[in-house]
Amino acid sequence: MNRFPAAAGALALFAGASFAATTAPTPTSTSAPANGMWDLRDLYPTPEAWTAARDKVKAQAKALDRYTGTLGKSADAMLKALSAISDVKKESARLAVYASLKGDEDVRIAANQERLQSAVQLGTIVQEKTAWLVPEIIQVGKTKVLSFESQSPELKRRFAFQLDNALRYAPHTLSVEAEGVMASAGNVLAQPNEIYSQLANGELPRPEVTLSDGTKVKLDQAAYSKYRTATNRADRKKVFDAFWPSWSAFKGTFGATLTTQVESEVFDAKVRHFPDSLADATFADNMPEAVYRRLVSEADKNLPTLHRYLALRKKALGIKDQLHYYDVYVPIFDLPHPPKFSVADSEKIALAVDATYGPEYLSLLKKGFAANWMNVYPHPGKANGAYMNGSAYDVHPYLLFNNHDDYVSLSTFVHEWGHAIHTLLTKANQPFENSNYSTFIAETASIGNEMLLNDYMVAHAKDDAEREYYLGQGLELIRTTFFRQTMFAEFQLALHEAIEKGGTLSGEKMTDMYCGLLKKYYGDAKGVMKVDPAYCVEWAFIPHFYYGFYVYQYATSMAGAAQFADAIERQGAPARDRYIAMLKAGGSDYPYTLYKKAGLDMASPAPYEALAARMNRIMDQIDAIEAKKGK
Ligand SMILES: [Zn+2]
Repeated sequence: MNRFPAAAGALALFAGASFAATTAPTPTSTSAPANGMWDLRDLYPTPEAWTAARDKVKAQAKALDRYTGTLGKSADAMLKALSAISDVKKESARLAVYASLKGDEDVRIAANQERLQSAVQLGTIVQEKTAWLVPEIIQVGKTKVLSFESQSPELKRRFAFQLDNALRYAPHTLSVEAEGVMASAGNVLAQPNEIYSQLANGELPRPEVTLSDGTKVKLDQAAYSKYRTATNRADRKKVFDAFWPSWSAFKGTFGATLTTQVESEVFDAKVRHFPDSLADATFADNMPEAVYRRLVSEADKNLPTLHRYLALRKKALGIKDQLHYYDVYVPIFDLPHPPKFSVADSEKIALAVDATYGPEYLSLLKKGFAANWMNVYPHPGKANGAYMNGSAYDVHPYLLFNNHDDYVSLSTFVHEWGHAIHTLLTKANQPFENSNYSTFIAETASIGNEMLLNDYMVAHAKDDAEREYYLGQGLELIRTTFFRQTMFAEFQLALHEAIEKGGTLSGEKMTDMYCGLLKKYYGDAKGVMKVDPAYCVEWAFIPHFYYGFYVYQYATSMAGAAQFADAIERQGAPARDRYIAMLKAGGSDYPYTLYKKAGLDMASPAPYEALAARMNRIMDQIDAIEAKKGK
């Protein structure tokens, strides 16, 4: 029922952690793991043991439909059926974790890919053999479900939340025949993303540019991400001017695929009796639509704070004429020799930063650092990016990094460990059935760590130059995680509303709509930053628009984390304990409710105001340093 990518899988989306492989130590997975290499034997002692377990679970999964029609018989019968399904889901998740991690050790090995396929197939079998579950719970009905729960404390303890969640779907669940049609259409409705991916990541022509130092660069996505940060202004303009026309040339095709994506979401909402596609998308989390709309309106309200940052950026970069959109990525405070952090340094710093969260949090972190849970260094064949995978309930979390010893790596390190400790706190306090926490809360646990890290590095900087370097990083984190993601969220909402109001879309229209948002966010009319229309095809570059309404959660998470950080700083232990209690609650309640219990209302302006205040505080510190310099 969760249509979002799992929190663990979605981390690379915004962490900006797409690293090329370099020549760091190459860990090998032998019987005893080398330093910096995870030990997958905690999941299965050997690949053969995995295959044996897979065969066993597959047989169990295939037999799950024998419980069809038993749920309403008695409390015991319901418990028996739900337990059997739960056990299979738990074991198949463990199998999938191993297959996925093993695959990421070296994506070039065919056996790894086959194991991964086999795990995906098992997941499909589990899904098919339990497709009857939610409709049958709805059929049994709330009265009987509650009466069964009162008869069986175990049923209540493990399954009450799941049952309540399933019952919510009653008005949106169709007849058996119609559900069958929707399931069959699923693959067709998933095609826009496939077509997009073929074109954007494969067939799109890659222009070549020659930079001022003579370097020839073929501008694929990775190269664009790297060279758009060029210190030489002419170079970054050249990169922008060469990169975007190739996307613009295909804007009709990109527009058609994205329109089809939006139409498929509008179709799903209509067929399932939701008032609109936003209501459909937020239903899985039982998230009030007001949160989404509040986020967008608060980002708009706080644009003067973003504009203050852009003015500061212009001044720091020494730009005398007009700030342009191609000036948005270059670091504003570079150091000739940026600080380096080994993994041991990162661990030490993480322990100092997370002292804020108290002894229980720290003891889990120390336990994790002492064990072989991480695959740290880049090596040939290893998967890109960084993530935490905590889906094996009976085993500890695993973490993958591509550590480059720089500040971005350090920030990614505390981010993913934030997810890992959230997972450990959840597992220690929740049954498997309530362990699947939502992305909405997950990213608070991780982004919160990144913000605390930034505060810590600023406080411990060795001089003003280093302090400004970290303050600049802190500002960019807020721009990219909050303002940029909210701009995406506003764009998505506009696309869906256009179709829902009976309008039409095209690549050209999307470019116009996106241009309007870029100009508003970056203050084009106010003279803050000039947005050249040639760059307004950027929407075509963003893959997240094919994942439904999803990106908004990065922005809300960051705002929530800002308010928690303020509360903990002001009140100390009571606020900290409410925060830790939210992490321990895992997926035992709806995320909006869990936030409320921790003292935050995400549909109110407060979290967003806290984040804007934080951004202004960072800029006040920069202004103070600049004033000292006599500028
Ligand atoms: Zn994350």
